Amino acid sequence: MLPDGTKIGRWQPVSCGRHAFDRAARNAEPGLVAKALCGVDVSTDELQRIAPEIAWVREDTCMACWRILASRQ
Ligand SMILES: [Zn+2]
Repeated sequence: MLPDGTKIGRWQPVSCGRHAFDRAARNAEPGLVAKALCGVDVSTDELQRIAPEIAWVREDTCMACWRILASRQ
C-alpha cells in the first residue's frame, strides 16, 4: 500500500506503450509532463484522456512498469 492509499498504479495506454502511473501523475495539472513508474515522460493531457478501446489492444505493456508494480505486492 502506498502512502496515498493506492495499492497499485493505474495502467494507461499512451503513444509510447501501456504504462502504469501513480495517483500524483494521474491528478497532475493538464499541460504538464508526468512520469510513468518506469520513468518515461508522458504529457498529462494524454495520460488523463479516455483512451480509445483500440489503444488498449495496440500498445504493448511496459514490462518495467509491470515489474515495479509486481514488486509492490
Ligand atoms: Zn512503463
